[in-house]
Amino acid sequence: MTVSSHFTHKNGLLHAENVPLDTLAAHHGTPLYVYSRAALKEAWDSYQSAIKGRNVLICYGMKANSNLAVLNEFRQWGAGFDIVSGGELARVLAVGGDASKVVFSGVGKQAWEMQAALKAGVKCFNVESEAELDRLAQVAQETGHIAPVSLRVNPDVDAKTHPYISTGLKENKFGIAIEAALAVYERAGTYPSLRVVGLDCHIGSQITEVSPYLDALEKLIQLIKTLAQRGINLHHLDLGGGIGIRYTNEQPLSPGELIDKVFATLQAHGLDHLQLVLEPGRSLVGNAGALLTRVQYLKPGDARNFAIVDAAMNDLIRPTLYEAWHDVEAVSPRETGPDTPVYDIVGPICESGDWLARQRQLNLQPHDLLAIMSAGAYAFSMSSQYNTRPRAAEIMVDGQQVHVVRPRETVESLFESERILP
Ligand SMILES: *Cc1c(COP(=O)(O)O)cnc(C)c1O
Repeated sequence: MTVSSHFTHKNGLLHAENVPLDTLAAHHGTPLYVYSRAALKEAWDSYQSAIKGRNVLICYGMKANSNLAVLNEFRQWGAGFDIVSGGELARVLAVGGDASKVVFSGVGKQAWEMQAALKAGVKCFNVESEAELDRLAQVAQETGHIAPVSLRVNPDVDAKTHPYISTGLKENKFGIAIEAALAVYERAGTYPSLRVVGLDCHIGSQITEVSPYLDALEKLIQLIKTLAQRGINLHHLDLGGGIGIRYTNEQPLSPGELIDKVFATLQAHGLDHLQLVLEPGRSLVGNAGALLTRVQYLKPGDARNFAIVDAAMNDLIRPTLYEAWHDVEAVSPRETGPDTPVYDIVGPICESGDWLARQRQLNLQPHDLLAIMSAGAYAFSMSSQYNTRPRAAEIMVDGQQVHVVRPRETVESLFESERILP
């Protein structure tokens, strides 16, 4: 059993939908990112069926996987987008995305990015500091726009996730402290070039329980009531992204559980007229992808056995960055028993941190194909060319069809724009 029903073994061979992964490796080489369109659709539908006619906008947190093919599927299905840079805005526009469904997040927006977003007509800027508010007001005024604004508040709740992906605590750099938010909203009201439209938070990622969201929601509701008393009425409430996925045996909350509980709470406070915005990233794409890699060498040792593969931390940095656990499946598994060795799966990069999985019992031979599962989110999008390694190709499987959605980079392309001194 793999963590995704769209990556399954049939006749002893791991498939993406109806395509055997050994065929993909033979045609396109390794390492190789393989995505399942059906898995994307299933994840999207899990949000759609949870909405049940309520006013909810799903803005895909596109930094998880910003390939144009992925964006274009979500766009066709009606998604908005949560962007964190001018570059991401350009990607949304490149696939014909509707800017009025785009929210712009991030602590360090630059003036050019604000200009581009104002020109495109984004739904809202999620402003994260007073200094950013002032700059946005100035940029909007200079360019003759009125900027729609939400404040991203930091509700100081523990998302119970890895410290590097927890963002809603006082010690994190994100958002405006909730106690300070009223004053910043009032300041926003003094600028003719700003229009206050909402309230936003994003408390972390790979969240598996609903309680951190509800803790944050209670605090936001108090703020919404205080704002209303001061005559500041909001149109939408954005609870960010963060719903976790199953990497191994997690049982993450579902979109349905979250949306039902949020609306029940809003209704209890007479606030269910607000539009709810969610910014899911990982939960829409994480289990729609696998990273296919081939074993190069087996290196047995006294302390550890290493399986050296052709993918590395430049292709998937999550294990070394967050000590993240990814399931590793043999594409053509052999029988295992008590004597089957335990391997650390490592890449060729010159760093001890270059590992993809540790202590996995696998019956391996050189040249075997392995699939590192749950590599649809924060895999390619966090990849680099460290060690002058061309980034791997990305493939989207749709039933029996195979689409190359980004070809493998060539070595020459990595340095063709570099110049030596005259
Ligand atoms: C990264 C991010 C998201 C998406 O988070 P996931 O955990 O992948 O759902 C949403 N909103 C903001 C502001 C983010 O930074």
